[in-house]
Amino acid sequence: MAIESDIDAMILGAGGGGYPVAFRLAKNGQSVVMADPIGNLGGHCLAEGCGPSKTVREASLARTWPDKYPLLGLRGTKPDADWRAILAHKDRLQSSRYAQHRVQIEQSSIVFHKGRGRIVDERTVEVTTEEGKLYRYHAKHLIVATGSRPHILPIPGAELALTSHDFFRLGADLPFPRRLVAIGGGYIGLEIASMLQNLGAEATVLEVTDQILPGVDAEIASFLHNALARRIRIPVHAKVTAIERGMTGDLRVHYEQAGETKSIETDCVLMATGREPVLPEGLSTLGFPTEGKIGVDDRLRTQHPHIYAPGDVNGRSMLFHSAVYQSLVAAEDILSEGRSGKTVDFESIPFTVFTEPEVAWVGQTEAEATARNVATVTSTYSYRKDTRAQIFDEDGFIKLLFEKEACRLIGAQIAGIEAAQLIAPLALAVRGGTTAATLSYMAFPHPMISEGINHAARAVGL
Ligand SMILES: Cc1cc2nc3c(=O)[nH]c(=O)nc-3n(C[C@H](O)[C@H](O)[C@H](O)COP(=O)(O)OP(=O)(O)OC[C@H]3O[C@@H](n4cnc5c(N)ncnc54)[C@H](O)[C@@H]3O)c2cc1C
Repeated sequence: MAIESDIDAMILGAGGGGYPVAFRLAKNGQSVVMADPIGNLGGHCLAEGCGPSKTVREASLARTWPDKYPLLGLRGTKPDADWRAILAHKDRLQSSRYAQHRVQIEQSSIVFHKGRGRIVDERTVEVTTEEGKLYRYHAKHLIVATGSRPHILPIPGAELALTSHDFFRLGADLPFPRRLVAIGGGYIGLEIASMLQNLGAEATVLEVTDQILPGVDAEIASFLHNALARRIRIPVHAKVTAIERGMTGDLRVHYEQAGETKSIETDCVLMATGREPVLPEGLSTLGFPTEGKIGVDDRLRTQHPHIYAPGDVNGRSMLFHSAVYQSLVAAEDILSEGRSGKTVDFESIPFTVFTEPEVAWVGQTEAEATARNVATVTSTYSYRKDTRAQIFDEDGFIKLLFEKEACRLIGAQIAGIEAAQLIAPLALAVRGGTTAATLSYMAFPHPMISEGINHAARAVGL
């Protein structure tokens, strides 16, 4: 027998797309129920994504510091990687953040269920909790923030591959993969290959298209490919056809490249062929597709104006900070009954790849601007001219793209150290349509890489 209630908002999924709208509505006096089978906040970002993967990545990066010792005049040896201890540090991060989130939930008026939601009709959702209780909620607003899951290639032996979940889930206990083959040269495959190689693994990334980071600015992709190729094998045009386990227990990945059939032996195969939206049961009865993305407008409204779909589930920009931003815009839209005028500016959402070296970008690329018939001016600042980059003997670049007429920034790409930090002020500049002149008549701290923004802007703004 279901326990029935009328509420203001029902939120399915407590990740970056779900919890910000939940807290915002609850703070404004709305009755809010949120459900998530994970039973805490953070979704897959905390369960297996951003925080946990970056904890392992920071350990791997710290291990590379001794590579610079001779340059800096220091002596010392490279530390051994204790994989169990690295995973334990990751677990600590996840546990402490979950504890923090439990307090936040307790201190709010949100009713939170550890359970899965099912759509009954356009205003009704049923939640079955972990203990088997059934709740039926009639809600004025429904927020579908059910996120995404790894896409699994439909090939023989796919079940032998691991996903990011196996590496980064709380309590992950896989042995250190001495040899890794990542299927897919997107950011997840590249980041994991980069960090494991830095921890001592031999890594290969197989990419089916002609470049890593498909669809990304070719200069950024090519810079990263060349930098990573010094320590990781990255065959492109490599179409994986099967995975099999050999007699000795080793895995073998078969692929086709330039008409030839090839294979690689490995200890561990990572399936990193992208992520696909997760749709809650029953959604298709409301006229939504049975699989794929949920279509939304820039206010995150779906084809039913009282149903919102922020985050990975709409496939527009599958990143945690984007999900949070979308969730907050959805909240504003609900609270203002559509009058706030707030929309998501998808163009100014920065993208970061935490490989070593890092790359990051925001806004349009030259190719996109050309396709839109926008005349542009590009300015590139080389890290080779930069004081801080010279201290570390690091290569890289900051590329700024201005539309020609008013010289406003419409895009930026950064490759090299500190790219992920540096992209934030450039996202702000893209969002505000900042001109090259404004970026020129500013002082960025010396001697930091951010000065490169001044230099690149001055090359066109003065
Ligand atoms: C390895 C990895 C590394 C990443 N690194 C980064 C990074 O460094 N920076 C970054 O910005 N992004 C990163 N991401 C992406 C980021 O994790 C996602 O963009 C983000 O989690 C999206 O948030 P979301 O709320 O839309 O979806 P999710 O985090 O997927 O959350 C959706 C939630 O919905 C729940 N759910 C599903 N079905 C139901 C249902 N029927 N009822 C109730 N609840 C349901 C799920 O349990 C889940 O908790 C990474 C992802 C991975 C896999």
